[in-house]
Amino acid sequence: MRPATQSIHAAAPERRPGAPLTPSVVAATSFHTDPDAIGFSAADLEGEAPPFYTRWGNPTVALLEQRLATLEGGEAGLAFASGMAAASGLMLHRLAAGSHLILSDVCYAGVAEFAHDTLRRYGVSISAVDLSDLDAVAAAMRPETRLIHAEVPVNPILRLADISGLADIAHRGGAELSVDSTMATPMATRPLEFGADWVIHSLTKYACGHGDALGGVVVGRSTAIAGLRKEALIHAGAALSPFAAWLILRGLETLPARMAVHERHAGEVARWLEAHPRIRRVYWPGLPSHPQHDLAKRQMRNFSGMVSFVADDDKALARQLAAQLRIVTYAVSLGKTQSLLFHIPADDIMRSSFHLEDAAAQRYRDWTGAGTFRFSVGLEDPADLIADLEQALS
Ligand SMILES: *Cc1c(COP(=O)(O)O)cnc(C)c1O
Repeated sequence: MRPATQSIHAAAPERRPGAPLTPSVVAATSFHTDPDAIGFSAADLEGEAPPFYTRWGNPTVALLEQRLATLEGGEAGLAFASGMAAASGLMLHRLAAGSHLILSDVCYAGVAEFAHDTLRRYGVSISAVDLSDLDAVAAAMRPETRLIHAEVPVNPILRLADISGLADIAHRGGAELSVDSTMATPMATRPLEFGADWVIHSLTKYACGHGDALGGVVVGRSTAIAGLRKEALIHAGAALSPFAAWLILRGLETLPARMAVHERHAGEVARWLEAHPRIRRVYWPGLPSHPQHDLAKRQMRNFSGMVSFVADDDKALARQLAAQLRIVTYAVSLGKTQSLLFHIPADDIMRSSFHLEDAAAQRYRDWTGAGTFRFSVGLEDPADLIADLEQALS
């Protein structure tokens, strides 16, 4: 099956008369159990155990996990209550006191803060590295490096990284590569095909697509996912609600169709913004002006619906846009039907989240100026979006 078919049919239940055509929400938290089949400890969990307790696994959640694993070309998936639970769960599982993490110097703020503020407290050392510079990544490797964590493209500035180059460096040094692919989606990039060991998504974004459910997933090899399930899900406990899984399954059916439209609309809006006198710089991987457009063409089959732009006097412009926009909404999050715009001042996020100083801070400012406008281009008619931007910018 190809992706547009997988998102609807992968891991679908058996076709038999009377079986429902759409997934059911299995709300039960516990299941009839054979006393000889399973013990009371997660250590007893082996292979394809029948449903037992919903924090361990649930049929509705399992369908979502299998469908996402298929879309990513991976062996198995593990769903979590949020994207943060997926990322933090993976890091807690793969890192320990004394180990070293190479983290993208710019990434989702929550992930950066979790690493710098929490993992460090547990004795993990962290190097924040610009992962678009493979020489810098190779130089940051240490004997105790266990994980390189990338985000491709990075939220919020849409910088890319060469996934196969990162995987080579990680594997040569005995480490693993995890890629947060939330902004790409499997319609654009399947990081496992480029050598990544783990793929993470915030399902809250494009996978759900409608802004009405939080969720996260990690996809990887089945033995590795089984280990992650015991520690990061059963013991850390951030299980996805079956109802949220059902909403995300519903959203996932239209992911391929939505991503084709998000990409087309983002392209129209990005090209229009690029020609606007008040906008200094526009980043969208599909624009020839994106500094990594060639890498984008090699690594992305869809350039996604995320655009970021830079303007002079950005704080005043953020207030103006928030007050004047009538269709685009000034709000956080991304990947939903409705267009969302948010402004992220460089100094604030460098201090609170990224801990960037000196040359690294200068590199961030060179890319974004004083701040980034992150624009999740929605499914509204692009002519209406452009007209809305035009009146709000004037
Ligand atoms: C939103 C987001 C997260 C966090 O996901 P939640 O579902 O909000 O916990 C992680 N990574 C990226 C790239 C995101 O955009």
